[in-house]
Amino acid sequence: MKIIDILHGERPSLSFEVFPPKTSDRFDSVKEAIEQIAGLSPSFMSVTYGAGGGTSAYTTEIAKRLKGLGVTPLAHLSCVSSTRERVENELAALREAGVENVLALRGDIPADMESPLVYRYASELVAEIRGRGDFCIGGACYPEGHPESATWMDDVRHLKEKVDEGCEFLTTQMFFDNDIFYNFLYRAREAGIDVPIVAGIMPVTNAKQIRRICAISGTALPQRFRRIIDKYRDDPAALAQAGIAFATEQIVDLFANGVKGVHVYSMNKPEVAAKIKDNLSALL
Ligand code: FAD
Repeated sequence: MKIIDILHGERPSLSFEVFPPKTSDRFDSVKEAIEQIAGLSPSFMSVTYGAGGGTSAYTTEIAKRLKGLGVTPLAHLSCVSSTRERVENELAALREAGVENVLALRGDIPADMESPLVYRYASELVAEIRGRGDFCIGGACYPEGHPESATWMDDVRHLKEKVDEGCEFLTTQMFFDNDIFYNFLYRAREAGIDVPIVAGIMPVTNAKQIRRICAISGTALPQRFRRIIDKYRDDPAALAQAGIAFATEQIVDLFANGVKGVHVYSMNKPEVAAKIKDNLSALL
């Protein structure tokens, strides 16, 4: 099924993101976690693409498995380290596996990258994918602006170009303050971006994630959220429970304000995905 059809459905959608293992010896444990998340019957599941492209075969393999389990897969694909031939091969493999949805990304450019990118921006990859078959194409967006953008308006202008190239829906970077998302939504619509925008929510359940969030420049942490982290950062069980409660509250507020799609950065954690799904059972 195409994700655009899911997002245009009557009911709100709740989807989960998973990532492939970095090495083959981790494949079985990751596969098990992913299958448990698939068992929650999410609206769809996305599978990330390794920054250097090294784990790309796993992205396709996991997407194919998800399809076999009856869950609509969304395979990520990035410009970093992608030649035209590689993109052609990846798309052929996805097509053969029956995967209909691709999230086209630029990827983060490694500091030591020597040769320029074949596809400089995600919009160029979107155009390439559009010319290579009947995929439903999604893209990333940043309610707080992409860190490389000189101005917020530049970022929205480039986002509009990405949509004009054929991006049918967008998924946001994580955010912890819903007002920032509502403000972004308003400005995106004002700029003529009229595709569905899925809100990306990260349930913070451990200290490592907190470090990751802090490393993503520009992610605003509301006082309410900081107080939770300060209080429970050394108590793993309490932090996990509080993080899931905070994410649940964010999602309830989003649904109550008419947002139709929420994507949870579930980080291969079936127990977190299950609790979020359970907390929202009557809303979905
Ligand atoms: P782009 O849309 O290309 O934008 C990148 C920057 O270039 C922005 O500042 C934009 O404003 C600017 N720009 C765009 N077009 C132009 C133009 N014509 N001229 C000048 N500037 C321009 N990374 C991975 O490696 N693998 C993943 O699986 C992955 N999944 C992700 C999923 C989501 C939902 C999100 C939000 C991010 C994900 N990322 C992933 C991270 C992403 O690759 C990085 O954030 C990357 O820095 C930007 O990718 P993009 O696709 O948004 O790039």
